[in-house]
Amino acid sequence: RAKERGRNRYEFFTAEINERVQRRIMLESRLRLAVLQSEFVLHYQPIVEAESRRPAALEALLRWRQPDGTLLAPGHFICVAEEAGLIGEIGAWVVETAIRETAGLFGREASAPRVAVNVSPRQLRDPCFVIRVMAALAAHGLPPGRLELEITEGVLMDEAPEVTDALNTLCGHGVRLSIDDFGTGYSSLSYLQRYPFDMLKIDRCFVSDATDEAAAARLVETIIMMAHGLGLETIAEGVETEEQFRFLQSKGCDLMQGYLMGRPAPLAEIAARFATRFAADAAPPPPKLLEA
Ligand code: C2E
Ligand code: MG
Ligand code: MG
Ligand code: MG
Repeated sequence: RAKERGRNRYEFFTAEINERVQRRIMLESRLRLAVLQSEFVLHYQPIVEAESRRPAALEALLRWRQPDGTLLAPGHFICVAEEAGLIGEIGAWVVETAIRETAGLFGREASAPRVAVNVSPRQLRDPCFVIRVMAALAAHGLPPGRLELEITEGVLMDEAPEVTDALNTLCGHGVRLSIDDFGTGYSSLSYLQRYPFDMLKIDRCFVSDATDEAAAARLVETIIMMAHGLGLETIAEGVETEEQFRFLQSKGCDLMQGYLMGRPAPLAEIAARFATRFAADAAPPPPKLLEA
């Protein structure tokens, strides 16, 4: 009997693994078609200046529309896309779409809000990446300085020379580079020295603890000081409360992003809420740009 139970359990596990593999294959093949079938959409989240609370940039965040209409967040599929070798194609769509949509909306002046795009590990190693980015900027007449690329620290781990070349070339063209989720994962301070970053994004986990824990507060303060010492602007991620905003502001953090200023939303929605503020340049800045 025990033997039989063992076998049943074994079969159960096998069935479960099979099912998981099946699901994964399904996901992969659906992902393969998703670009062609226009199933991706971009939402945008404002990044505001700490002092004026004016929008300095919008971060493009990828969503995958499902047949039932729900939107899948990138945490559900970016990894699979990377492993299946699909991230280059998806990433190219993201870069092109983010540039096209925002160039059309805000015009082409250098002072208009920038657009920030997340870049995956594999994308930077693709020799076509830089060419694609520059071609998209040229095609839509967007000055390179209006584009930011956000790169997570893990990407740089391998120190591939292609990655260094790509980042230096982009920087040379005037594209702005941010180090994303700073302080998590594979933190290496030497990246800050080795790569031409303009901005450092302080990960949400430090921001959320900073107003509760003295150690986290000191850590955030130190990150900001260090970044400024290296000539980098700082962006706090995941700012959800006015208390967090004020704390970060008091420590000299340059830019803020989070639900307090606005959740990611379709561009038309963001544009509608921003439109009046862009027109009224001389008017005093509102206390809060967007409701959470
Ligand atoms: P990220 O670049 O660090 O983006 C910030 C994430 O935090 C977003 O999640 C955003 O919705 C969320 N967020 C913003 N403000 C708050 C807040 O106040 N509180 C909380 N709890 N969360 C907040 P999302 O959209 O699910 O994206 C997750 C990650 O997926 C991104 O992290 C980025 O690493 C990656 N990602 C998103 N779009 C793309 C893309 O087009 N390409 C690639 N390669 N990765 C992407
Ligand atoms: Mg990001
Ligand atoms: Mg981030
Ligand atoms: Mg993050």
